[in-house]
Amino acid sequence: MKKRTDACFLCDGDGKLKKVTFYSGVMKGGTTHHLASVTVTFFERWSDLTMHEIQVCRDCQVRLWRQKHFLPMLLCGIGAAVLALVGVVALILVPGPARFAALGLALVATLAAGAVGVVLAQRYFNKKPKHAQTEPLVVAAAKTRLPNEGLTFLTSEQYVARYEQGVFG
Ligand SMILES: [Zn+2]
Repeated sequence: MKKRTDACFLCDGDGKLKKVTFYSGVMKGGTTHHLASVTVTFFERWSDLTMHEIQVCRDCQVRLWRQKHFLPMLLCGIGAAVLALVGVVALILVPGPARFAALGLALVATLAAGAVGVVLAQRYFNKKPKHAQTEPLVVAAAKTRLPNEGLTFLTSEQYVARYEQGVFG
């Protein structure tokens, strides 16, 4: 029988696991009130702070990473295709030399959308996204598998930033 700690928190798989630490707690305050002559800011106060340590496999990290980048990449690809089509249509429908100006514009726009699409595709196919880049995605996914009502979740980076500000008193 496999120990629970040897399995991925998100998929129960046992690929190469990476430890992810994050925190949850009840956040109070952090709001700003404008009174007649003064602005009062209530600083964040936290209670029930809890540290979570989970193991997440490489596949899940890559899967979450791709989920985040798939749609923008797809939209960019569609955008480039539509712009290319506009160029073709302009070539057919616009009369006289104006058609070449229209075609040129559509071409430039197509190339621009294509270039952004290529950058996004490079991100999408990046098999080794940095830990700091996937951590917020892992925490967001883990959150849905934990009791989370009324709780705010923090990555370890966000936790450390608040700790250094003295938010936790
Ligand atoms: Zn997994």
